[in-house]
Amino acid sequence: MAEQKRDYYEVLGVDKNADDAAIKKAYRALAKKYHPDMNPGDAEAEKKFKEASEAYAVLSDSDKRRQYDQFGHAAFDGGAGGGGFDFSGADFGDIFGDIFGDLFGGGRSRGNQYNGPMKGANIRTSVRISFEEAVFGCKKEIDLNVKETCKTCNGSGAKPGTSPETCSKCGGKGQVVFTQQSLFGTIRNVQACPECQGTGKVIKEKCADCRGTGYISMKKRYSVDIPAGIDNGQSIREPGLGEPGTNGGPRGDVLVEVIVGRHPIFQRQDFDIYSTVPVSFAVAALGGEILIDTVDGKVIYDVKPGTQTDTRVRLRGKGVPSWRDKNVRGDHYVTLVVQVPDKLKPEAKELLRQFDELTGDTLNAVKAATEPEQPAGEAKESTKEGRKKKFWK
Ligand SMILES: [Zn+2]
Ligand SMILES: [Zn+2]
Repeated sequence: MAEQKRDYYEVLGVDKNADDAAIKKAYRALAKKYHPDMNPGDAEAEKKFKEASEAYAVLSDSDKRRQYDQFGHAAFDGGAGGGGFDFSGADFGDIFGDIFGDLFGGGRSRGNQYNGPMKGANIRTSVRISFEEAVFGCKKEIDLNVKETCKTCNGSGAKPGTSPETCSKCGGKGQVVFTQQSLFGTIRNVQACPECQGTGKVIKEKCADCRGTGYISMKKRYSVDIPAGIDNGQSIREPGLGEPGTNGGPRGDVLVEVIVGRHPIFQRQDFDIYSTVPVSFAVAALGGEILIDTVDGKVIYDVKPGTQTDTRVRLRGKGVPSWRDKNVRGDHYVTLVVQVPDKLKPEAKELLRQFDELTGDTLNAVKAATEPEQPAGEAKESTKEGRKKKFWK
């Protein structure tokens, strides 16, 4: 029994009046979804793919579409003998190349560039700098392994006295076309020529110095300007120092990642600097000058009398310069940490007791708060210890 065939418009999910672009778009989506390469071993997907391809073969061809609109599936039943659609008349090679060329990154679009100039690859490297170097900028030397044009063959790769010859396999085009049988017939594929790797030229006698590559690797030292304000993890681009391009393309770039070392005192957040500074109890209480370390050196700061611990003060413009504009600088935030004196000499302890008596008598505060409340005579014994004592008396 012959299977009932679905309507071609229904298969593609388009309107009867759909234009060519809409039909192609619908088929593209279905082909991508059901293509056997995307669904290996899935018979249902393959069936759907064939169905969609058949519908597209007919509806994308104005003559066939007219016939189909007039007679339906009967229009094509004649020669096929109920065994399905006859693909022989349809130019599937073209359809396939057109749709799948960009769908699967196939030959066509890339093929055009095989012979064209291509920029060389970028080289990535890194450099370590100190916190201060990042703040104020610096110059650093970096060693790179770079490919330089071979002087012996002037970059041709051919032995001196000879020159590269036009590739006989591709005739110098750098690409070859090969055909493949598929579900709908013959497909033309374009590939980089395997003989010349897409260059269009073959070197019969290679230059001994560069082994035919045209380049010699050598260590080179470059000086890199690191701008003030650069932060950890940012990169500097040095254009034109990377790998050489191909077919006359420009060299790639060198990207130098900057790794900034930690500072023992300063932390950085964007363009602001943070640090903590100890302040003696006396200075915090009475006020006075302290020295604060900044990236510009020590500055004198006047602590206000009665400063509490963890007070944060701002030193305007003592932060990191913006790498966009050196004259714009962040701020430096300093957290003042009041130090509690320890290891006091007996005289200092005595003075502190006197000081305490004058400033609230905190050393005797608990005694003062508990003693007057106890009735005269025997103290009320409410603790366990107290009860025990009484019991055993
Ligand atoms: Zn050479
Ligand atoms: Zn070739």
